Amino acid sequence: MKTLSKQHPKEGIWLTQTKRPQCGHNDVLIKIQKTAICGTDIHIYKWDEWAQKTIPHGMTVGHEFVGTIAEVGAEVRGFKIGDRVSGEGHITCGHCRNCRAGRRHLCRTTLGVGVNRPGAFAEYLAIPASNAFKIPDDISSDMAAIFDPFGNATHTALSFDLVGEDVLITGAGPIGAMAAAIAKHVGARNVVITDVNDYRLSLAKQLGATRTVNVMNESLKDVMGELHMTEGFDVGLEMSGNGSAFESMLENLNHGGKIAMLGIPSSDTRIDWNQVIFKGLTIKGIYGREMYETWYKMVAMLQSGLDISPIITHHFSINQFQEGFDAMLSGKSGKVILDW
Ligand code: NAD
Ligand code: ZN
Repeated sequence: MKTLSKQHPKEGIWLTQTKRPQCGHNDVLIKIQKTAICGTDIHIYKWDEWAQKTIPHGMTVGHEFVGTIAEVGAEVRGFKIGDRVSGEGHITCGHCRNCRAGRRHLCRTTLGVGVNRPGAFAEYLAIPASNAFKIPDDISSDMAAIFDPFGNATHTALSFDLVGEDVLITGAGPIGAMAAAIAKHVGARNVVITDVNDYRLSLAKQLGATRTVNVMNESLKDVMGELHMTEGFDVGLEMSGNGSAFESMLENLNHGGKIAMLGIPSSDTRIDWNQVIFKGLTIKGIYGREMYETWYKMVAMLQSGLDISPIITHHFSINQFQEGFDAMLSGKSGKVILDW
């Protein structure tokens, strides 16, 4: 079968042939229809320090996908051939305390599809059946292909009550822009989103942000004045991984404010603990998606009118994968879909 994999220890990704994976007793084998390119895939493409440390030679990459079930393992219940599914790219151990308590996103020994084990940029993917998620008929395959990052946005945005609140999102990448749409959908008042990239801010605007701010040429304080926000933001969603964005979030949150932190900062990022302590802030780290509360919430929000479709800006066939990666690398894209 065809796969996109990391064949050489340098920048790039390669379309190659490999053997179809085996479907274990507890697995489902999925015939992939569509995949989407994640920021993680770009780290692997660029072969940065993290990728060099983490990705084994020849690894099939990718973890954002939708497909149909082609084979069902002998022990599997609840799935049948032909079911349309997406799935969790975090494979958890199943026997640690958190897994057993149903908090699988907090498993201590998570393995990543397309990072630590063969991924979804392939004609077929085998994963544990408990990681597959059935997609209702009224949800498009394009949407289902991006449930992984949409799930990051959902997990983060729904971490704190947003009804009637003023929300600051730092970073209008695909995940930040989707979070803006979610925050508006669930009833936030002002959703202000920052970035340094105007293309991305315009996508966030299209998705429903109240106000976008390019921090290179506008001050967040001025925007808060314009919106008559005298006390500060109630909730912050950090989605840039940028230290100065996080610093401005700390500065502009009201006392008692809450922060859900998804963006991954560099190890030398400093934090002004005085802001945290004297303002009584709550900071919650967010990893992945809740299994499977987040997945049910995504379905429910789409079925109740949430429209995040403008976040998909590009479609390519798998043979044009290089154009897809180039679109992601340009910074002028939302989600990029590759059709298999
Ligand atoms: P992305 O890199 O596409 O988006 C980040 C955005 O932040 C970019 O648009 C960038 O221009 C913007 N940015 C840079 N400097 C900024 C500044 N000073 N102020 C405001 N914005 C600034 O990433 P994404 O795919 O949307 O993911 C968002 C973040 O979440 C990334 O840091 C990613 O690594 C992280 N992530 C974490 C998890 C998790 O499980 N915790 C999962 C997926 C992604
Ligand atoms: Zn576990």
